[in-house]
Formats: sequence, structure tokens, C-alpha cells
Amino acid sequence: WEEVSIMDEKNVPIRTYQVCNVLEPNQNNWLRTDWIPRSGAQRVYVEVKFTLRDCNSLPGVTGTCKETFNLYYHESNEDRESYIKESSFIKVDTVAADESFTQVDVGDRIMKLNTEVRDVKVTTRKGFYLAFQDVGACIALVSVRVFYKTCPLTIRNLATFPDTVTGADTSSLVEVRGSCVNQSEEREEPKMYCGADGEWLVPIGGCLCNPGYQEKSGTCKACSVGFYKAKSSDPGCSKCPPHSHSVRDGATVCDCHSGFFRADSDPPSMACTQPPSAPQQLISVVNETSVVLEWAPPRRLGGRSDTSYSLECLICQTGSHNYPRPGSGSGSHLCLPCGSDVLFSPGQTGLKTTRVVVSELRAHTHYTFIVHAHNGVSQASGAGAAQSVSVTLTTNQAAPSPVSFIQATDVTRHSLSLAWQQPDRPNGVILEYEVKFYEKDQRERSYRIMRTFSRSVDVTGLNPLTVYVFHVRARTAAGYGEFSAPFEFSTNSDPFPLIGEGVNSAFLLLSISGVGILLLISAAVFIISRRRSKYSKTKQDSEEEKHLNPGVKIYVDPFTYEDPDQAIHEFAKEIDVSSIHIERVIGMGEFGEVCSGRLRVQGKREIYVAIKSLKAGYSDKQRRDFLSEASIMGQFDHPNIIRLEGVVTRCKPLMIITEYMENGSLDAFLRKHDGQFTVIQLVGMLRGIASGMKYLSDMSYVHRDLAARNILVNSNLVCKVSDFGLSRVLEDDPEAAYTTRIPIRWTAPEAIAYRKFTTASDVWSYGIVMWEVVSYGERPYWDMNNQDVIKAMEEGYRLPAPMDCPVVLHQLMLDCWERERAERPTFSQILNMLDKLIRNPGTLQTHRKTYIPWSMCVWLQSIGLERYRDTLAAAGYTSLDSLLALTHQEMDRLGIITPSHQDILIASVQQEMLSQMQHMQHTMVPV
Ligand code: AMP
Repeated sequence: WEEVSIMDEKNVPIRTYQVCNVLEPNQNNWLRTDWIPRSGAQRVYVEVKFTLRDCNSLPGVTGTCKETFNLYYHESNEDRESYIKESSFIKVDTVAADESFTQVDVGDRIMKLNTEVRDVKVTTRKGFYLAFQDVGACIALVSVRVFYKTCPLTIRNLATFPDTVTGADTSSLVEVRGSCVNQSEEREEPKMYCGADGEWLVPIGGCLCNPGYQEKSGTCKACSVGFYKAKSSDPGCSKCPPHSHSVRDGATVCDCHSGFFRADSDPPSMACTQPPSAPQQLISVVNETSVVLEWAPPRRLGGRSDTSYSLECLICQTGSHNYPRPGSGSGSHLCLPCGSDVLFSPGQTGLKTTRVVVSELRAHTHYTFIVHAHNGVSQASGAGAAQSVSVTLTTNQAAPSPVSFIQATDVTRHSLSLAWQQPDRPNGVILEYEVKFYEKDQRERSYRIMRTFSRSVDVTGLNPLTVYVFHVRARTAAGYGEFSAPFEFSTNSDPFPLIGEGVNSAFLLLSISGVGILLLISAAVFIISRRRSKYSKTKQDSEEEKHLNPGVKIYVDPFTYEDPDQAIHEFAKEIDVSSIHIERVIGMGEFGEVCSGRLRVQGKREIYVAIKSLKAGYSDKQRRDFLSEASIMGQFDHPNIIRLEGVVTRCKPLMIITEYMENGSLDAFLRKHDGQFTVIQLVGMLRGIASGMKYLSDMSYVHRDLAARNILVNSNLVCKVSDFGLSRVLEDDPEAAYTTRIPIRWTAPEAIAYRKFTTASDVWSYGIVMWEVVSYGERPYWDMNNQDVIKAMEEGYRLPAPMDCPVVLHQLMLDCWERERAERPTFSQILNMLDKLIRNPGTLQTHRKTYIPWSMCVWLQSIGLERYRDTLAAAGYTSLDSLLALTHQEMDRLGIITPSHQDILIASVQQEMLSQMQHMQHTMVPV
């Protein structure tokens, strides 16, 4: 390599390293960089700019001329290695010029600069060296730029994420925790992933501005004067409510204007208010010893609706007609609070009504009643007597209240002693008590009366062992009061009173009936709860009823057959094991090996098949599950559903024979051919899957495990839905391990949350399959864990468009991932949409940089001209259509000079295009 100055296209002088030993064989020329520190990078990118002479344009060169060079690296902690052995360098890649070669145009040299980027993982040492190996090309290295990628510092959901170096592998994600911006707090731990391209992915969680602050372009700004924000979860600053103000920035609450108040329970968003004015127009109506008080609400309610009233009752000395203010100095000695025996209906405090009946007052007594009005801010305002109104009145004369308790002692066969308490409200001096009693059996047909001044009496002349009923009433100057309630006592057979006797028989009666009532209540509760549970059961049953369309073929669940063998023989053909020829193992299934082989059924041509067998030592349940897949598959007949050829059940091992799919499962197939298909080819695969799924949904079959790994691909790139096992396994296993068996990344939220598996949840999975296909088998949500995936879904995050994904396709994916399952498209709508896209490929235009398309490789191989693969691709012939433009002159120019090769190429291209057009018309898209 020599360091040489040359002129670039714009005639600016540049320094280059050049080598051009094209005439001598066995070249091995090395050029090495200085040590490059990696500074924490894990994957570095090397961008090389160079020019390269086309060997054909060099006069007199032989086969020794090359058109590539090799890029190497060597990791090292040593920044000054003077000699590094060739063998300690690791090869990154062989670099060829892109489509542009150095050409010699009529006398004038035109330089074409190539730019190639390679990336390499450097994780083991502090730095590395790069080296360029020439093996006989004519190259000028113009520049080498070495860089790594970071996800730049960013603020998302009010959390700051630092500048982050991307991971070591192209598919690895670096999990980064964000920190809340100033004046904000965590709502949920903020997290994001830094992708290999330097793009931030999947923001989860975030922060909220503190009280007094609101979000403004990624930061938290204080609320300005006159505004406030009370809680961090409030959406923004709000104007101070009426009668309040804030005088400083960043207020969390507004202060009330003077004379206005806020109750403890008032939210900060509520206006400041005032206590009510006094109640109005208090009137009283006295009826013996009770009073009805009525008033009108206050004139001013203070801006609130929680006015309530309380009543103060004062008993005043006879002759005091002026209302004495309690606690107001002179006269206060004249009034005292009424005792606790006064009754207020509906109550004395916390009244919402404006009418109260006060009863059980003393007869002929002076009372003062004060009605206070309150509301939520009365206490805060310290409001006093200003909000009350009062009335003074005198009760009428009244008879005493009833005696409330009678006791019997000294019971004998003919006598007992009665004693009772004075009535609660005698309403005057008691002049006399009257006792009325009778035999219980006699009712009141004949009774006796006794009168006494004292509160006891001895009753004699009674019959033995007889129940008597007693009532007592008192008399004052105002007359007799009411009789007491009945009290029952029984005489006994003893001639003399027993010490310690005196159990109230009424109490006994009550306790016995109490036990009975309890029993009755529990019996009623039991009956009602039984009825309830029965009701919910019948409702559940009816919800599970399926609505079947008459006339449409419906899939039959093989598990509804009592005998699994009956199902299998109804839906699958028994194959004689001698007609199967097993060739090799191609995969591992849940129940054992999967092999490929040939099947020759009499009268039919031999076909390739896949053979799944059930490994020895299986249980009854395993046998049932294994054969159930065949019983399900055997009911389907569609070009995009894997076809069942038959089963072997009469001898061991049991086998399921299906058509053979040469390219295996779709996910692995795509990963193997990363970037090698046109968008139309990818959409064609998706169309096949959608068509198969439409067929399944028309048959009312819910797949539950639609994923690229469960799609098989044959040699014509036709995709077929397979794997009909999971659906049953889940239902058999309702509680245990349920979630662990759900393929979370592919499953709709309602199916994860409450097992609502429907065709709409299959549509969700189909959207994920679309994403897998367009990203060539990338793992959905990369290496995020399942919990984060579920959380991200709940927060509305959806997978971004894969690289080079046409917008329409990503939009269709997003439609499949609608949270509401009714809003997702049906498979029939998806199919229509894909057909439309295939008919108008213009709508799909986004070209991925295609190196050597897979279809081209296969095709060139089939016509025996694979050797021109790279030449054609490098010259821009990356599809069969583009080959239509090939002419003999053009091929001469490209170096395809054998005349028979030129002829084969031109003829085969025309033939292939013709057959493709016919194929498209017949099978691909119904136009
Ligand atoms: P399965 O038990 O259906 O998941 O099959 C296990 C593996 O065997 C699959 O991932 C495929 O690679 C392969 N396989 C299954 N069926 C077929 C088939 N019909 N044709 C080709 N390969 C198959």
C-alpha cells in the first residue's frame, strides 16, 4: 500500500492509500490502522470509502486481477502494538465495490467512490485495530470512518433518558431507567429500551409534575399567579375558583378571600364559601307537653348546599319571660339546658328538615328553643350566635307519663307484691296510683282495681298457678296518665314466698321466641342464597350457547366424542404402514419425532409426506391429545391449511401423515433468507395465511396459537396454517399453569386476561404474524419479558413498523391490535385488503436494499447459470422483471460473453415471466 495524493471528482486533492499489483499473482498486502479505543461501545461500524478499478478496464491483465479486499479487526488493550501477526486478525468481511466501478470513459478518467459499511462486535478489550488486506485488486482507500451508535439523550413522559450506547448484538435491547425531570415524581417506574439502531423503543411508565407544576414541552413549569394545581395527577394548572386567589407561582391551593372559607372536606377546586345567615320565621305550636317548631331556611346560604340545623333547648324559671342568652352574663342563671329526657323528632342536631317535634317536655314549664343554622364552613369561620333564631314558650298542664316498669316479689299460690317506679315525667305532684289486673285467660272481661299512694301494693286473693296481667297508672291534678304496658306474673303452688324468686315471665317468653326468630332468619338466608347460585349458573350456561349458522360447515370438536377412536375414524383415513417409507428426521414435535418420507397409496402417484409419531410409553390422555390434532386437521380442506393424508392407529407407533412442506416452519425460513424477498412476495405469503384463517373462522374454529412458527412453507412459497394442538390442551387444563401455556406475545389482551379466545383474538395473532413476516422472523417485542409486554400493551404501546415496512401493512397490523375486539378487521376484510395491495403494488413501494434475492438464486440455479449471480446483482439486476431488459450488448459489457449462456438467459427470462403471469391469474389473486 502506498500513501498517494489524488484529485477527487471535484478536483480537490485528497490523500489515499493505494495498491494496484494486478499483474503479479499471490498478492497479500496489509494496511493497518492505529489503535482505536472503543470508549464503551459494544458494536462499532466501519464506513470505508474507496475506488476500485474494474479488472476488465485494465489493459493486459490476466486472471490474477481481483475486485475485492478484506476487512479485519484485532481487539487489544495495548495501544502501541508494533507487530501483530496476520493470524491474530479476525475477518469482518470481504468487501466488493457496489454497483460502481472505476470506468475509463473516452480519455477522461471518472472516479466512482464506493461507500461500504460493516459492523463488528468489540466487547473483550479496551480497543482494537483494523486492517485491510489486498489480494491483488486495484484499490484506493479514500476514507475510513469508525463510529458507534447511541440512543440520544431524550425526555419521554417527563423522564430523562441518558445518551445510551447500543447493545452488542443487532437484536439486543438495552433496558434504561429514566429519572423524573425537575419538579416531577414517578407515576410508574419510567423505562425504555435502546435498540441496536440507536432508536428508543417501548416507553413504559413515566412521571407526573408535582403539585403546583404543570407539563410544558417536556419540563414542569410552576403554575402562575391566579392558578393552582393540587395533585400531581391533575392534568394541568387551573384558574383559582371563585372567592380565592394565589399570590405566588407554584400554588398547590388557592387561599380564600377574607370572609370566605373552605371546609376540610372541600376539594381545592371548589369555590370558597361562607356560613349561612340565621334561619327565618321560627314558629312554635304547643300541644300539652310537646311542641312543633317550624322555620324557613336562611336568606343567604353562603354559596353552599350543605345547610343543616341544630336545636338548643333551655328550661327557664317560671316568671322569666325574657330570653336569657346562655353565657351572656346577667339572667343566664334563669335558664338551664333541658335534660336528656326530652325527645326530638327527627333529631336535635344535624337536621336537614326545617320542622322538629319536641316531646316529653315538662307540663306548664317555660322553655326557650334556639335554632342554629350551620354549613361546612361554620366551624372554620368561628361563626357564633349570629346565625340563630329563638322562641320562648310555656307548655300546658298535662297528665303523668306511663309507669315503665313493674316488678313482682314474694309470690305465693294466692298473693304477690307489686312495686314500680315513678313515671319518667310526672308533670306535677302524683296524687295516687291505680293498679288494674286480671287473669290472663279471662282477658279484660273481668278485672280488679286497687289504688295506693305508695309505689307498691300487696295483691291477695289470687288463684294458684294462674297467670295474671297487671297495668299501673298515675294521677296528678291534671288527671290520670296512660296505663303502663301489660306485665304478666304467675302465682305458684307454694304456701309461702320463695327466697330469690322473681323471674319476669315476660322476659322468658321473649327469649324463647327470640331463639325461634333467629332460626327462621337463618333458614330464610339459606334458601335465598341457594336460589341465587342456581340463577347465576343458568345464566352462565346460556351465555355459553353458540349461535350456529345453518348451512355452513362447522368444525366438530373431537373431544365431544366419548370414544376418541370414533372421531379419528370419522375424520381421518387409516393408512397401511407398509405404504409409508420413512427417510429422515426433520424436527421435534410435542409428542415425538417428525420425519419426512414417501407415501404410495395404490392407484395414486407417490408423494412426499411428513410423519409425526407418538413416542412409546404414552398415557391414554397423550394418545387422545395426539390423535385429536388429526381429528381436527382431517375436517379441513383448503390450500392454505396443512392437509392430512391419514393416520396409522392399527399398529405402533401411532402416526399422523401430512403433506410435506419442503421449507419447514415460516419463522426459521424467513430468518434463513433475511432480506431476500420482495414486498410482493411477503404479502403473497401473508395472503395465504389470511386465506387459511378465513376458512378456519368460517368453520367456527378458533386456532389460539397462530404464530409464524406454526405456519409451514412449501417449495412454492405457499404458506399453510398448521399446529392444531394447543386449543384443546388449554381447555383441559382450566386453572393450573394456564398463563404459562399462553403464547403471551401472540395473544390478544382479552384472551390473556380472561381467556376470551375468539376469531377476533386470532386476528390479533395474525397481526403479530404479519410483523414477524415483514421483519424476517424477528422475535416480537425482542427480548422484553412477558410482564413488560403485557404492561406495554395495556399502556397502548404497539410494535413499530419493521424496517422497510410499507405504511399500509403497518396500518393493517395496528388495526389487528385494536384493544376493542369488535373493532378489529375480520379475516375476510384482511384478505380483501391484501388482494387490493397485490393488485396495486405501487401502494407497497419501499425497497429494502436487496443484495442477492433468493428467487433469483433459485432461478439461476435452475437454468444452470448460478455463476453470474453476483455479476447480475451488482449491476442492479435484482429481480426477474429487471432481467427482461437484458440485451446481448449489455451482457457483453457485464462479462457474460459465452453466446449460449446469453441465449439461455434471454429465453428463460421470457419463459419464466410468461408462466408467472399465468400462475398469478389462476391461483394468486382472484381479480
Ligand atoms: P410440530 O409438532 O407440528 O410443531 O412440528 C415440529 C417441527 O417439525 C416443525 O417445526 C417443522 O419444522 C417440522 N414439521 C412439522 N410438520 C411438517 C410438515 N408437514 N412438513 C415439513 N416439516 C414439518
